Amino acid sequence: MTQTVAAAVTAPVEAAPATERRRVRRVPGAPRPERRLVGIAVSPGIAIGPVFGAAEAPAVVVRLKIHAADTQAETARFDAAVAQSRKQLMKLRARLGNLPEDSQAEIAPLLDAYLHMIGPSRLVRGVRKRIAETLVSAETAVQDETSALAAAIMAMPADGDPAGRRRRAEEVREVGRRLVRNLTHTPFRSFSGLPAGAVLACEILRPADAALLDPTRLAGCATDEGGSDGHTAIMLRALGVPAVLGVAGLGQAVRPGDTVVVDGVAGTVTVNPTPETLAAARKSLLAFSKAQQKLAALRHLPAMTTDHELIDLQANLEIPVELPLIAQAGAAGIGLLRSEFMFMNRETLPSEDEQTETYRSTIDAMAGHPVTIRVLDWGGEKDIEALQSEGIVPEVSDDNPALGLRGIRLLLRETELFETQLAAILRASSAGPTRVLLPMVTNIAEVREAREIYERVARRLRRRGERLPDKLPPLGIMIETPGAALSADALALEADFFAIGTNDLTMYTLAVDRGETDVAALYDPLHPAVLRLVQFATEAALRMRMPVSVCGEMAGNPKLTPLLMGIGLRSFSMNAAAVARVKQAVRAVAIDDCVRLARRVMEQSDPARIHELVLGA
Ligand code: PEP
Ligand code: MG
Repeated sequence: MTQTVAAAVTAPVEAAPATERRRVRRVPGAPRPERRLVGIAVSPGIAIGPVFGAAEAPAVVVRLKIHAADTQAETARFDAAVAQSRKQLMKLRARLGNLPEDSQAEIAPLLDAYLHMIGPSRLVRGVRKRIAETLVSAETAVQDETSALAAAIMAMPADGDPAGRRRRAEEVREVGRRLVRNLTHTPFRSFSGLPAGAVLACEILRPADAALLDPTRLAGCATDEGGSDGHTAIMLRALGVPAVLGVAGLGQAVRPGDTVVVDGVAGTVTVNPTPETLAAARKSLLAFSKAQQKLAALRHLPAMTTDHELIDLQANLEIPVELPLIAQAGAAGIGLLRSEFMFMNRETLPSEDEQTETYRSTIDAMAGHPVTIRVLDWGGEKDIEALQSEGIVPEVSDDNPALGLRGIRLLLRETELFETQLAAILRASSAGPTRVLLPMVTNIAEVREAREIYERVARRLRRRGERLPDKLPPLGIMIETPGAALSADALALEADFFAIGTNDLTMYTLAVDRGETDVAALYDPLHPAVLRLVQFATEAALRMRMPVSVCGEMAGNPKLTPLLMGIGLRSFSMNAAAVARVKQAVRAVAIDDCVRLARRVMEQSDPARIHELVLGA
């Protein structure tokens, strides 16, 4: 990740309108005391600079009823606002080319989601219907429709990903705000006056604003609102801008021009820092940038332990625009391609040819490094409109979707969907080393049935004259349920490789929803029950001399690398940004030390003791 390194600057900053924030009362002339505010650390790094406030005039909407005769004109106003919004979003998208590649990878899909929503979407249809049937103005219809849609998303049955639901609802509201601004001709906020080295402090920063920011000028960011799992946080991380969001009282505490220190690691914002605080912040800034440089320098070095054991570090891919990031990270392949992206944000299913093209270009881009493509893992938090509109899955899924028709279960029922994807992967596999991965497997019958279908598809393709590799790409399985982990010895006889998905494995083992804030403290991949399952599955694979890797979030946590290596694992797939940190951890240890650590850890039954041993906490 590129990191903005900001020094204190004294450039004058644009004054914010008086209405923007309340001033703190103080004796005129008296130095303002230092104040430290606490928020959520969302993007690492330290920023020191003057505050820039970016005010935005509110859009005022008066609820208006219209006459039936005016519905056509009102619909035309709405269509014009849609066209204008589309133009603005396309312009924002075109501007992305100025941002670093990793930032583009984060922001582009969001802008695409906005564009999708103002295409021939449920939202647009809903607004038109409201204008015609409830006889309200276009602004009123937009507000009513977006509120109803956002509320429907939030009220969806528990799907294991409340953060995802919040994000989707926020996307709908954001599109509504844009449409209303255009309908009421209210100007959008501008960041054009942002002086180099300034810290943006405002009540709220919307994800699309990130496309307007210039990360080379912006030192840091702090906002009153926002949380760690929102799009804005993801964008700021991708832009490499140190940021703290959700800082209660920020609006009252700062005014334009104040010097602030934003600590994106500790999650603090210090207003009017004393000379001592400033000196300490400068020291932290220097240490942080040195650590970043050190990580960047690791890119071309092997992931080798001090006793010369090579470890395989690969990257997970969620959307193709991440590809440049993966190459930059020095990953040795794609260990988990989550193919869900191909099916999302669209109303029809992707054809075999379309899928083949996407897989082929990804395999091509990896230039001989292996690519493990996981077939569609629908279910749980993954909401795929195309599957609903084509009637493959119901609009509202089961009460308990995490335990329902997820992953391989759906594919074995909807064989046409499965066969199309397998055919596309097989056709693309001539472009380079490929593996096929089955999600949510719990028993050997599923693997056998999937393999029969796989071989049948290959035979059909060969009959059709397709050029397939003589030996079909290996067919592996995710170990992500306790059932699969505990029958790993039997599954190892059926599968060609294992990929241990510790995210779901932790969720299903501990009965803790992986996205639920209320039980977040109980979600613990270091719980002995989870570790024993990881160990059991790993040993089953190693006995069969079968490849085994970890591709859940555990793989990307460098603090856990020695333990996982001590358990016997040598292959990890993680988010691209984590590759350098994990490589650093690998290069600092010897296998013997890892084995000793794992022995001590695996004797423990108290999670707190395991945390002490592994995390030192
Ligand atoms: C997992 O469950 O650990 C995993 C890698 O799959 P996903 O996060 O896509 O469910
Ligand atoms: Mg999973």
